[in-house]
Amino acid sequence: MTRNGIDFTTYFKQYPDEKGYFGRYGGSYIPVELQAAMDEITEAYFTICKSRKFINELRRIRKEFQGRPTPISHLERLSGAIGNVQLYVKREDLNHTGAHKLNHCMGEVLLAKFMGKKKVIAETGAGQHGVALATAAAYFGLECDVYMGTVDIRKQAPNVARMKILGTNVVEVKEGLGTLKEAVDAAFEAYSREYKDCIYCIGSVVGPHPFPMMVRDFQHIVGVEARQQFVEMTGELPDVITACVGGGSNSAGFFSGFLNDPVDIVGVEPLGRGPKLGDHAASLTYGTEGVMHGFNSIMLKDEAGAPAPVYSIASGLDYPSSGPEHAFLRDMGRVRYETADDEETVRAFFALSRYEGIIPAIESSHAVAYAIRLAKQRKMGSILINLSGRGDKDMDYVLEHYGIPGKDAKLV
Ligand SMILES: *Cc1c(COP(=O)(O)O)cnc(C)c1O
Repeated sequence: MTRNGIDFTTYFKQYPDEKGYFGRYGGSYIPVELQAAMDEITEAYFTICKSRKFINELRRIRKEFQGRPTPISHLERLSGAIGNVQLYVKREDLNHTGAHKLNHCMGEVLLAKFMGKKKVIAETGAGQHGVALATAAAYFGLECDVYMGTVDIRKQAPNVARMKILGTNVVEVKEGLGTLKEAVDAAFEAYSREYKDCIYCIGSVVGPHPFPMMVRDFQHIVGVEARQQFVEMTGELPDVITACVGGGSNSAGFFSGFLNDPVDIVGVEPLGRGPKLGDHAASLTYGTEGVMHGFNSIMLKDEAGAPAPVYSIASGLDYPSSGPEHAFLRDMGRVRYETADDEETVRAFFALSRYEGIIPAIESSHAVAYAIRLAKQRKMGSILINLSGRGDKDMDYVLEHYGIPGKDAKLV
């Protein structure tokens, strides 16, 4: 399939280019000494991604440790309550640790081990990336330092406990507001000191090359499985596929299985409380081009051009930019980006729980909300949603702020 001069049969051979660009987006904007460390990672990655031993090892881990392939479920009751469009979900909530993040963390730590590194480091906000990385580090027997702001440590006690139980060193960052931004700075600083012995594991398809490509490749399995399973189940491709977009890793992997197919692809961004700057984190919808955190993409900026404060009910989507490949696929017209606000998302959270017995992550609920909206507008067809994670972590917050809907509350 060709769109805007891009041939999607050869897309993966062409993008990103050797400097890590997807068209004008991507690249690597970091200090020179760290560039040497990135080049080392890129070279190691290109060596192992062609190595049978590495690929077989990752395949074995996916099956025996992560529990892959994760199934697709047909949402029969929910679809019936809306109309004739059939909804399906790819169940990344059933991946070990309850979300898609382990897919790339296992790849990253396997790479670190191949490179002879002793340690992996990362920052975490809500703790989801920290827990996935801690899990992978325990599996491979590497040390793990996770930088986390004081305020986040207090707010995310269960994830801090998980990381500690898994043997990870949670490093408290007391500077500034004690949240994700300060944790990023502290982790980056530590990496500048320790890059000879460790690698920095980025938690999404963001940051300097090779991370947007590498994390997408490690998530590619989600799209490959989903395509094959859907065709086996129904005899055809879905009409529409959709996933939530924060940094963009679960969506990038899921979409990558369908780029060359006659399938509509829709990424869903968090509209939060509304379209005013500061009330949402819908960077591809409202942002402009710029460089932050080591890469060029579309981002939300304040008046000074710095990353703007962002908000979403879903802490996993609360990021002022998205990966460069998303910006590129948007410009090429291959992927469309829509939004869902907090309220619609919470309704979808309860709809999936009540109609199907699946409590979704509040991040994933954004994609469910969009799919429900689209299903109401159409007379027929099928929509496949990537359910990036399970919602146990969100239950307390949702109940405290929204309460339990009544027996006859209108959820769809
Ligand atoms: C972290 C997270 C996300 C957002 O990250 P992406 O890189 O955009 O996929 C989405 N869903 C869940 C369950 C998460 O934990």
